[in-house]
Amino acid sequence: MILLESYRNKRVGVVGLGKTGRSVVDSLLESGAIVGVYDDCGLDDSKYMNLGLSLLYSRASDTFSDDWGTLDCMVVSPGIHLLWPEMHPAVRFATKTCIPIINDVDLFQQNVSATNICVTGTNGKSTLTALVGHIFEISGRRSSIGGNLGTPVLSSPAGNDFYVFELSSYQLESCNRLGFDTSILLNITPDHITRHGGMVGYISGKQKIFANFHRGSNAIIGIDDAHCCSIRDFLIGINHPNVVPISGKYVPDFGIGWSLECLIDNRKGNHILVCKNNELLDGIHNRQNIAAAYAACVLNGIDKQEFCDGLLSFKGLPHRQELVATINGVKYVNDSKATNVQSTEQALLRFDNIIWILGGLPKEEGVEKLTNYFDKIKYAFLIGEAANDWYKIMRSHKVKCEVSRSLEMAVNNAYKMCKLMEIDVVLLSPACASFDQFKNFEERGDAFRKFVLGIEHKISNSSKSHRE
Ligand code: ADP
Repeated sequence: MILLESYRNKRVGVVGLGKTGRSVVDSLLESGAIVGVYDDCGLDDSKYMNLGLSLLYSRASDTFSDDWGTLDCMVVSPGIHLLWPEMHPAVRFATKTCIPIINDVDLFQQNVSATNICVTGTNGKSTLTALVGHIFEISGRRSSIGGNLGTPVLSSPAGNDFYVFELSSYQLESCNRLGFDTSILLNITPDHITRHGGMVGYISGKQKIFANFHRGSNAIIGIDDAHCCSIRDFLIGINHPNVVPISGKYVPDFGIGWSLECLIDNRKGNHILVCKNNELLDGIHNRQNIAAAYAACVLNGIDKQEFCDGLLSFKGLPHRQELVATINGVKYVNDSKATNVQSTEQALLRFDNIIWILGGLPKEEGVEKLTNYFDKIKYAFLIGEAANDWYKIMRSHKVKCEVSRSLEMAVNNAYKMCKLMEIDVVLLSPACASFDQFKNFEERGDAFRKFVLGIEHKISNSSKSHRE
């Protein structure tokens, strides 16, 4: 746990009692702060009731208990809306009464001097964070990963030399201090747009990762999309001390990227070969992640050999184009984390002869964005709320498809269909959120894995019984 010495005896209100909020309260209490908690859903855990401050709010009368007015600062969780029209009442109160609003990343920055590496982007954040963390770990550095991925920032182990954090746009939105040592922005495509008040709000939220830089700051930026290219130009224009462009597609001038199968360090304009790819991390999107990981590592003292050893031993994360099984020569790939069309596009780029399982709760962008890949689809099974609308669109493009009542039915029918066609891959890559049918993308991916392994198990049992 990270201790927050500068908050001893400070009066702090914590708004939102999810995983992040709990970690904030725990660290503050351990550090001797006087704390109160507010959550719209009430407090379900006695540990967080009857703390030093009593923060009550009545929606009916729009009134706040007295302790709110005595706060030195208010720490908001990532789920709390900061902007109109959905601004949370607690945020409105703090703004009106000039109470500073901060978040857990600010608390960390104020109290920890170790080197931090912070990652954001629309897609690839978790993969990149895990990859960098893995390379630091196996090269023996005292380091940890966390933030939006796994462990909340303040639950990180104390005393590390390096902290690698994945930061969502929500976390960046409520962060004031910023000024990270190494900031990475991988890519920007439309996602979570509504919450950020449109694309401009979303982009400026992501761009914030580079704000308040200092003389030793590094800015690593993916330049495979137009929004990030503009941000790169902006950073160079304002004399950021070290901007490193990276690409998954080519070797940028004075940056890091790919030529055929080789990762090339061209920061000094002399095309140095770093290594070949890890086969488990195939695809342009993963090349983008690897180029960014190399930049983060080499700028923080990891040498080429250490990087290559780390890269080759990294197994990838579950639910991101995860190979679950190969049954009768057909790969079953779980890409449940593909909750938007851009991440699904990466899977469709990578594979051919696909049986595609897609659908769920649709986002702003629809399946039309993916029509370029429809000729790779041999058959599609549509699930969830998006199913009927997307079925019509796919049929209008002459893609053979059907609506499935459940993911289980889709998997079973896909398996049967494989016997009738030349198929390379059965791909769950939904391009949709999961909440209509599942708790989250992990539950959806775990269900897919369970159904696929069930089929594999059945086949191996029946071939055993044939032999006996
Ligand atoms: P995030 O944490 O940003 O959601 P993940 O690493 O969890 O990203 O990957 C989410 C989805 O995006 C997966 O389907 C994965 O295959 C895909 N993906 C991973 N890296 C990238 C990238 N650099 N660009 C586009 N899609 C990516």
